[in-house]
Amino acid sequence: RPSLLWFRLDLRLEDNPALADALAAGGPVLPVFVHDPAGEGAWALGGASRWWLHHALADLADQLDRLGLPLILREGDASGCLRELLAETGAEAVYANRRYEPAAIAQEAEVAEGVLASGAKIYFSNAALLFEPWEIRNKSGNPFQVFTPYWRTCREQGWPGPVRVDLKKLAKIPAKECPRSLALDELGLLPDKDWDAGFYEAWQPTREGALARLETFVREGLDEYEGERDRPDQDGTSRLSPYLHFGQIGPREVAAALKQGAGAVAAGADKYLAEIGWREFSHHLLYHFPQTPEAPLRPEFADFPWRENADLLRAWQRGRTGYPLVDAGMRQLWSTGWMHNRVRMVAASLLVKHLLQPWQAGARWFWDTLVDADLANNTQGWQWTAGCGADAAPYFRVFNPVTQGERFDPQGDYVRRWVPELAKLPPKFIHRPWEAPASLLEDCGVVLGNDYPEPIVGHVEGRGRALAAFEKFKSAR
Ligand code: FAD
Repeated sequence: RPSLLWFRLDLRLEDNPALADALAAGGPVLPVFVHDPAGEGAWALGGASRWWLHHALADLADQLDRLGLPLILREGDASGCLRELLAETGAEAVYANRRYEPAAIAQEAEVAEGVLASGAKIYFSNAALLFEPWEIRNKSGNPFQVFTPYWRTCREQGWPGPVRVDLKKLAKIPAKECPRSLALDELGLLPDKDWDAGFYEAWQPTREGALARLETFVREGLDEYEGERDRPDQDGTSRLSPYLHFGQIGPREVAAALKQGAGAVAAGADKYLAEIGWREFSHHLLYHFPQTPEAPLRPEFADFPWRENADLLRAWQRGRTGYPLVDAGMRQLWSTGWMHNRVRMVAASLLVKHLLQPWQAGARWFWDTLVDADLANNTQGWQWTAGCGADAAPYFRVFNPVTQGERFDPQGDYVRRWVPELAKLPPKFIHRPWEAPASLLEDCGVVLGNDYPEPIVGHVEGRGRALAAFEKFKSAR
């Protein structure tokens, strides 16, 4: 009898333990994807993620097609859809890989109950992480809340290698024996409005695209990673985040590729693995503290005196804060669905500190606009910036968006790329155009306050306001 392979955030055939287990069971394997927005709870996929998912599914369907198999697409409640498929196909088991978001865990429990009630079996494996969140504990048996000891404990376990999947064992399924499937377009994942042209330029959202990036990065980027990873003007990071999020490539595969490249590039590999470590840590935190996408890990921050203001939020979202590094990042995000990590930190800090907007509002915007939107990483990134998460930057440390720009984009090339209004300004003023002499601005064709905004709040004033809010909050406790 056949089994169902329920694809989730594990959209690959290699290093896929659920597929390996389904194959080991011996019968034919029917691959299924269920589009279940309601099953994501408050965090249904944003626009940019839906774009990526569409292409990742198209690619997975192509790979399966080459092996003589369909990808069966269904839409609706995952539990109901899978039970229907069990009944239609007479399958005896469902194989799947775990997810760690609260809504996905609840969905998993519901699916398991439904599958067992219909007399079939269900098995879950791990395709997404090097270490399951519950495997890593501190000496008192509790979850970690500080990265360094967490990662040290992980490292002591050694990296698991990729899971071997013998694709030759996949039995072809003739079209007439396949259960009905929706066409991919029927899932309606692509946008109605044409905002995605830049996405097509920036990304190849396929398994092949993931492998090519990994290969190029190990060959050309790893050596320099430690020095270049903070430079948004360089192509110094791997840009694997959306592939890792959707499971088109897995962290075990990435770790194995780094090992092959070790030796001359060992230092870069270590640093890079530590970033994969932050991804693991974020999932560890989300699993153990499932309230954190909405609520601060440090509960006292629930009373922080944010000053919600729709105009400030909008200016930030549109890349019109008057701080060139931040605006460049916000526009890169809108155009390509991705933003450099250093710029994410500075842009997020400006929103929560200078502008005193709640971190949850920023997290929501990122959720909708990032192709790598990931509930664990995004929550951790925002809480870290807002000072209310695990191992977070202390609240009183406020990034200066001007000096950050001068340090990490010294020639201003990143700003020139994304804020073309300022393209003609020399490096000396590109991160502080309001200090440029009027004649220079005129020569460069910039009218501040018109072509490009004045700073939305002065750095000294914004920083002072943030610190005053923090003092007030501390003394009220
Ligand atoms: P690389 O430097 O090549 O790193 C390799 C991989 O390690 C990344 O692909 C990612 O999976 C992981 N990683 C790197 N840095 C981090 C980090 N700080 N935390 C967790 N994992 C990390 N990352 C997401 O994947 N999704 C998000 O929704 C997300 N939201 C963020 C929000 C804020 C406010 C901040 C400050 C960071 C956020 N990050 C998020 C983390 C980080 O910015 C991205 O993972 C990184 O920029 C992706 O680019 P890359 O693949 O080139 O990174």
